[in-house]
Amino acid sequence: MKPVYIIAGSGIVFFLVLLTVFLLVRRKRKKTLSSSSVQDNSKLESERNKSDLILASIDDAVIVLDENKAISLFNPAAAKMTGWAKDEATGLDYRAVIKLLDDKNEPVPLANEPFLLTYQNETTTHNNAIFLQTKSGEVISLDITVSPFISHDLSVKGVVAVFRDVSQQKKEEAQRADFISTASHEMRTPVAAIEGYLALALNSKVCAIDEKARAFLLKAHESTEHLGNLFQDLLTSSKAEDGRLTNHPEIVELGGLVESLSNDLKFSADKKSLAVEFSLGGTGKGVEVHGAGVLKPLYYSVVDPERIREVVTNLFDNAVKYTDSGKVSLSITGNDDVVQIRIADTGHGIPAADIPHLFQKFYRVDNSATRTIGGTGLGLFICRKIVEMYGGKIWLESQLDKGTTFFIHLPRTSTLEAQNMLQQQSTTTHTTGVAVS
Ligand code: ADP
Repeated sequence: MKPVYIIAGSGIVFFLVLLTVFLLVRRKRKKTLSSSSVQDNSKLESERNKSDLILASIDDAVIVLDENKAISLFNPAAAKMTGWAKDEATGLDYRAVIKLLDDKNEPVPLANEPFLLTYQNETTTHNNAIFLQTKSGEVISLDITVSPFISHDLSVKGVVAVFRDVSQQKKEEAQRADFISTASHEMRTPVAAIEGYLALALNSKVCAIDEKARAFLLKAHESTEHLGNLFQDLLTSSKAEDGRLTNHPEIVELGGLVESLSNDLKFSADKKSLAVEFSLGGTGKGVEVHGAGVLKPLYYSVVDPERIREVVTNLFDNAVKYTDSGKVSLSITGNDDVVQIRIADTGHGIPAADIPHLFQKFYRVDNSATRTIGGTGLGLFICRKIVEMYGGKIWLESQLDKGTTFFIHLPRTSTLEAQNMLQQQSTTTHTTGVAVS
């Protein structure tokens, strides 16, 4: 055989071997790929079953909405709570299924609607003071958290809502608050009587007692006073919690109110030789004429003056209580939107770790100062509740051994609006006066 044929023949064989190997490898790869995609599918299926199982076992209702606000997932707890079957609800616009109400039994205003807020702000929304009207018309109390799920391109692809029925919890809380308020109300009366009799016994014009008895009675009087304050604070805080705090909002000029309070409260600061300072000044627009020719900014807000007096007095009393030397300063400033009241002292200060907890009920800083100084730990809680009742906020800054400053922000009413309101107020009073007479 000629060498050229041998070379050509072995070339063809080599080519055929290569082709066979290639085909074999391709077949094998195909096989592997298809078996791995089967594996992937079954893995996916088992993951899906697992998450279905988890969602079915969760006691909280879980609802997922897609980007068009249609329900794409509805777990059994959601079905039980709302009264809608999963198949009925899936695919519907959530508003057809989830009827959210406020505490006045009205549809939740759009500005507070947790689903819409989450779509708009692309952040988690939480609300524990909201109600759900079920399919049968029953109204239940809800604790709801709605979170967005964001796609790779950072747009909101939908939201997931987790909510639970807290009706029983709310009922128990209301019963507890009711008990505290009844008990403190009932106990305040005998305590006030004891305090009154002790005061009489201590009055030298009424009773003749020796010095030892006077010392004992003084201690008894102090403790009864403390008990009376505790009952009063308990009563106020339980009312503040369930919105029963008496509140008669009217248009009030806060500069004048705080200034007159600073004069009234001076007395308690004098007893500890603490100076009291008051300042008025603002960065807001328009300095108004206040009184006869004296230029002073006017800080109007719609609040109950009694309640604001209570807040400022509480903060002032604390400033005096926790300050050994120096001064307590009250000031009032503001801008077009808010009035800021500031109460600063040069006292013990508050450790940074305690600051986030201070406005909770019964919270007291545990240090030598508070152990010797009496208190209930309810004052700041009540202050927060009152300030929040008017849409304001309260916070503080403090430095150990340097002092503490409390800030209050309240919504400001413009002078023009305030004067219109004052005029209306006086017309109403006048009309009522005529009607009565
Ligand atoms: P209390 O009746 O104990 O004063 P509050 O609720 O008014 O209750 O205050 C809570 C705690 O905050 C106090 O126990 C005290 O530790 C701390 N506190 C409040 N105001 C001041 C202040 N001006 N300076 C230092 N500590 C303060």
